[in-house]
Amino acid sequence: MARKTKAPQANQKVVLECIQPKCPNCGHSMWSDYDNDRTIRTLSGVVQLTLKVRRCANQQCESYHQVYRPEVEGKWALPGHEFGLDVIAYAGSLRYQEHRSVPQIHRALRQKGVSICQRSVSNILDRYDELLSVSVTDKNRIEKMLGSQQQVKKRARWTTTTSRAGSVMGD
Ligand SMILES: [Zn+2]
Repeated sequence: MARKTKAPQANQKVVLECIQPKCPNCGHSMWSDYDNDRTIRTLSGVVQLTLKVRRCANQQCESYHQVYRPEVEGKWALPGHEFGLDVIAYAGSLRYQEHRSVPQIHRALRQKGVSICQRSVSNILDRYDELLSVSVTDKNRIEKMLGSQQQVKKRARWTTTTSRAGSVMGD
């Protein structure tokens, strides 16, 4: 869907590396394959994440050529989401601890400098509800909610490929 307003410019840059240098499946070194950029809106500003994505280079391995993204990515935001987990947590606390309405939460986030539209506030409150309802032991549900990792990886790869090709993609 076309974006109505221009995405805010990042005022911080963070590079995320994989902690695990070896393939979790076969133990061979994974090569650093490409960078994947994500822009995340957080309570402390707009952060451009550069993810150093690796792949297993062992052709005999089941995980050969599968992408391996930096582990800490999940600390920043849900896959495919542009708002940080801190924004989701803050919106959720205003909703459920202070019983604020969506327009009030929208105003509070704007006052904190988060560029967000009211509809996105409703969306992040939905994500908050989902996160809250998922029990820590409900692994399948967490995985489903986080989206199929392969889908996310494929999408990231596709985005990288198209941006390398110089295409201008809307989102
Ligand atoms: Zn491997």
